[in-house]
Amino acid sequence: MASTVHGIHHVTCIAGPPQRNVDFYVGVLGLRLVKRSVNQDAPDTYHLFYADGVGTPGTDITFFPWPAMEPVQLGIGLTVEIPFAVRPGSLAYWQDRLAQAGVATDPVETRFGELTLPFRDPDGLGLALTETADGRDWTPWRAGPVPEAHQLRGMHTVRLWERQLTPTEMLLTQRLGFVAAGEEDGWRRYAVDGGGSGRLVDVREMPGERRGRWGTGGVHHVAWRTHDAAEEMAVREGVAQGGLRPTALIDRFWFESVYFKEPGGVLFELATDGPGFDRDEDMAHLGETLILPPWLEPHRRDIEAVLPPLTMPT
Ligand code: ZN
Repeated sequence: MASTVHGIHHVTCIAGPPQRNVDFYVGVLGLRLVKRSVNQDAPDTYHLFYADGVGTPGTDITFFPWPAMEPVQLGIGLTVEIPFAVRPGSLAYWQDRLAQAGVATDPVETRFGELTLPFRDPDGLGLALTETADGRDWTPWRAGPVPEAHQLRGMHTVRLWERQLTPTEMLLTQRLGFVAAGEEDGWRRYAVDGGGSGRLVDVREMPGERRGRWGTGGVHHVAWRTHDAAEEMAVREGVAQGGLRPTALIDRFWFESVYFKEPGGVLFELATDGPGFDRDEDMAHLGETLILPPWLEPHRRDIEAVLPPLTMPT
């Protein structure tokens, strides 16, 4: 295969009230708000980006806060859980920290040999922390509330429910570069670019399950890393040859994107590693002010007038 993706770039989810979202992801999970912007397709709503200290691709979870939306209906064709990587030995710290924040956790499980602590965010979004010794591109956030040793190091994998495994498997293996990497408890794991933390996807075939529907507490899409636009367009070509209908290249300013639905209905994106979140802000001050892409800047006053104020947890 000529071109492949290189793991998870970001995951975008739908949240309820934006302040509660900031309080949880910054104040409890200790991620850095690296970009405070608006949904480019609905600029009267926020788009909030949380990541490691510098916004490294693969560490970024983003949210559209749409409080008026119904809660997600979990089902096939959706990403149902986002496990994050933490270092071995960190789960005890996190069990204490989450308990102190009033976050209920499920019992620790062993998944593919790694200890995993599942829980949910305030909107019910399925999250987990997985202890892994795998190396990752990651920069700590030294001003954050979580000690560096225990900070989240990015998405470990994503977990998808599908009516049929085979069509999704064919896309992953024939068009995106994944290889089968094991099966456990009904979950098939696939790995790309050598595998390891951040280069995984887990798929569960659930033929009797209803179709899922987007809502608060749900995942909107999963984006896969490409090095640059040329590689992204080569992967896009393969996706189109596979019978899917990828969009044209869309300039998201901090990266360039192509979107398509995989055969089971999960919205996927291809995204370039650059230019990155410091394209329009000093790295020391990421996320402190509302940032608009240049084409929305003329509408700043109208946009700011309808967005609710946000305060950072202390
Ligand atoms: Zn995206």
